[in-house]
Amino acid sequence: MTDLQFSAVVTKVRFEYDREINRYLDEPKPSRCQALCSTCGTYHAASFEEMASRVGEEELRYVASMRAWNCCHEGVEPYDGFPEVPDYRGISGPDADGDG
Ligand SMILES: [Zn+2]
Repeated sequence: MTDLQFSAVVTKVRFEYDREINRYLDEPKPSRCQALCSTCGTYHAASFEEMASRVGEEELRYVASMRAWNCCHEGVEPYDGFPEVPDYRGISGPDADGDG
């Protein structure tokens, strides 16, 4: 049991925009996402570059958030639960067809 809440530990999630890339785009797209572990005050980033397959902002946000949580609380399940895993092929588990 824990009384830690995910939303209380991972308090800030922000996207960063790479000017070098966006110079050629009409619509700016974030190049990476940073999430803050408020327990120790460290930002943890996830970048599109490092992801194996094409992912969206939702997925990047999820990865950065989980990294921030695992920073000081790895193996601990938050009181309010982990954020929902974005629905994309790379993450989908064995029971992807659902049981609802
Ligand atoms: Zn930390």
